[in-house]
Amino acid sequence: MNIGKYVKPSSVEEAWALLKGNEGAAIIGGGAWLRRGGRKLELAIDLFETGLDTIRTEDGRLEIGAMATYRQLETAPDILDFCDGLIARSIRDIVGVQMRNIFTVGGTVAGRFGFSHLNCALLALEARVEFHEAGLISLEDHLDGKGPRQDILTKVVVDGSAARGSFQAVHQSRNDFATLAVAVVRNVDRTTIAVGARPGRARLAESAMAHLVGSIPDGKEEILTARAGELAAEEINFGDDQRASAEYRRMICPVLVERALKEVLK
Ligand SMILES: Cc1cc2nc3c(=O)[nH]c(=O)nc-3n(C[C@H](O)[C@H](O)[C@H](O)COP(=O)(O)OP(=O)(O)OC[C@H]3O[C@@H](n4cnc5c(N)ncnc54)[C@H](O)[C@@H]3O)c2cc1C
Repeated sequence: MNIGKYVKPSSVEEAWALLKGNEGAAIIGGGAWLRRGGRKLELAIDLFETGLDTIRTEDGRLEIGAMATYRQLETAPDILDFCDGLIARSIRDIVGVQMRNIFTVGGTVAGRFGFSHLNCALLALEARVEFHEAGLISLEDHLDGKGPRQDILTKVVVDGSAARGSFQAVHQSRNDFATLAVAVVRNVDRTTIAVGARPGRARLAESAMAHLVGSIPDGKEEILTARAGELAAEEINFGDDQRASAEYRRMICPVLVERALKEVLK
């Protein structure tokens, strides 16, 4: 990364005034991903001093500031107590703690990374993302590329009382990106299933979710979860990369979906 000018505004408004209409400017979250590329930035706008690093619960609504780090996610009581600690579980094994002290929620969500564990977990939680200019939009729309191109992501919002959650992933080696990731959330009569690292951006498995609407009768769990796994594998598009073929991903998808469903239906 090659930076012309580096600034640390003290408010989001100040940051926006610097970013708006300036194609040579970019927001810096943790800077860990940006640093990997040889990108040239005329103006780097660091949000470190904008106060966007808070995590709080209000009226059952979880709000995570864009500058909250992964380390905050894995230690904040509000996150650990929420939905079986799904968010914390999704990120706690990513590389080392030094890097997790740097990675930010905003950099991850804004980056729309296909490999991202966090984006997969937040999609299963039907999170919404707030941009300074564009306001609140669904994470699903944002990951589909319907979000703004140049804006400042200020926070992630998760509504309601998501009851049970599970995160499952397969890795070729401990510190590698996931070969496939699955996050499942179960509320009273609704289940959401997100599949990430396909290797494309995380997607909801809508048919599998429809199959699990309503209460699940005792003794029917096994048959319903097995079918949901098959449906997810049929409806999601998988791709090839150096970690695995699309065919391999399609084969392991039902296993991860079933594993996650068994956990949330216990
Ligand atoms: C060595 C390494 C290994 C990794 N391994 C994994 C892994 O195994 N699994 C996994 O899920 N992830 C992994 N990641 C990714 C990591 O989890 C983060 O998603 C990533 O580093 C982005 O966070 P950041 O704070 O560094 O973003 P940055 O590098 O600061 O920014 C990323 C992008 O988002 C933009 N941006 C940042 N903040 C905002 C904002 N508030 N508003 C608008 N735009 C913004 C930037 O301009 C940039 O385009 C890895 C990253 C690294 C560097």
